Amino acid sequence: MSMVKRVAVTGAAGQIGYSLLPLIANGSIFGPGVKVALQLLEVTPVLPALEGVRMELEDCAFPLLTSVTCTDKPEVAFRDADLCLLVGSKPRGKGQERKDLLMENGQIFIGQGRAIAATAGPDVRVVVVGNPCNTNCLIAMRNAKGVPPERFSAMTRLDQSRAKAQLAQKAKKHWSTVKNVTIWGNHSNTQYPDWHHATIDGVPAAKAVADDAWLQGPFLKTVQERGKAIIEARGKSSALSAAQAACDHAKSLFTVTTKDDWASLCVLSDGSYGTPEGLISGFPCTTDGKGNWHLVQGLAMNEFSKQKATISWNELLEEREMVKALLG
Ligand code: NDP
Repeated sequence: MSMVKRVAVTGAAGQIGYSLLPLIANGSIFGPGVKVALQLLEVTPVLPALEGVRMELEDCAFPLLTSVTCTDKPEVAFRDADLCLLVGSKPRGKGQERKDLLMENGQIFIGQGRAIAATAGPDVRVVVVGNPCNTNCLIAMRNAKGVPPERFSAMTRLDQSRAKAQLAQKAKKHWSTVKNVTIWGNHSNTQYPDWHHATIDGVPAAKAVADDAWLQGPFLKTVQERGKAIIEARGKSSALSAAQAACDHAKSLFTVTTKDDWASLCVLSDGSYGTPEGLISGFPCTTDGKGNWHLVQGLAMNEFSKQKATISWNELLEEREMVKALLG
């Protein structure tokens, strides 16, 4: 293990970046004994603001932070990186079609995939947060020639945490007692938060909650629409929770995660559970603590689950079709 972990963050002067960087510098991903170097990427006009972020990071005098690099060049940001957190992504403009947004962001992720292949460390892991994160991840993965596709994942951890919190509150238990929630499909409002294998304080979630109508209706909708509810309340999208989730996701890769409380990661589908092969889609995963994940196999999926997940898989298929020209 190298003495210093190099973490590249794109869109680093954005609002998720602002919450995320101190978490990384405090050891939230690699632990309290591992030093980190931050390599921050922004678009050129935002470099002055990024300089301000750098000043603030220096002013925190984080014991674990060894250096902060600010750049508008992906090949500089990703150089020798152990972990790339791809947060930067263009928001949908007023009246802009989804396809146009996918194509515009796709161009960014082609370039970043190529730059990762060219300059990142030999054992790099890539986590995509910028939306539409599943399809952006697919584009980056397909354009990062020579980097094993399993090194790429997209974030659905915030949805998993949101689902845990909702289940806990309904069952009047603490959220730390909720285990084994899966988010199937896309990180969008078609996602399917699956409680069927979840437990709350050791009791099957359906039994602890004892309200199937709530689980099948308001629970799903609340988790699916949580991002919108936060925008309505705050006037801005979620940032603090998204940053925490990005750290939790990355930390899951670098610590051991077992079947006792799996991580929901969006990773390359091999066709398991009926997820179309080749998509980046949500799955229950265990991890080995060295950056590698494995799908949890053998879970039963009832008709309700299959039907809900299929809606989200179909959306991912549509997205892939829209960007097929960008898939390297
Ligand atoms: P945020 O920091 O708020 O969000 C960044 C991205 O994360 C968005 O795509 C956002 O999606 C996404 N995201 C994923 N999950 C969540 C979640 N649960 N809640 C909220 N957001 C989520 O955006 P800002 O506009 O503040 O910052 C983006 C930065 O990226 C800007 O500074 C911009 O300059 C930069 N940028 C950098 C690029 C590059 O490095 N090449 C390219 C483009 C932009 P959503 O939009 O759906 O909320």
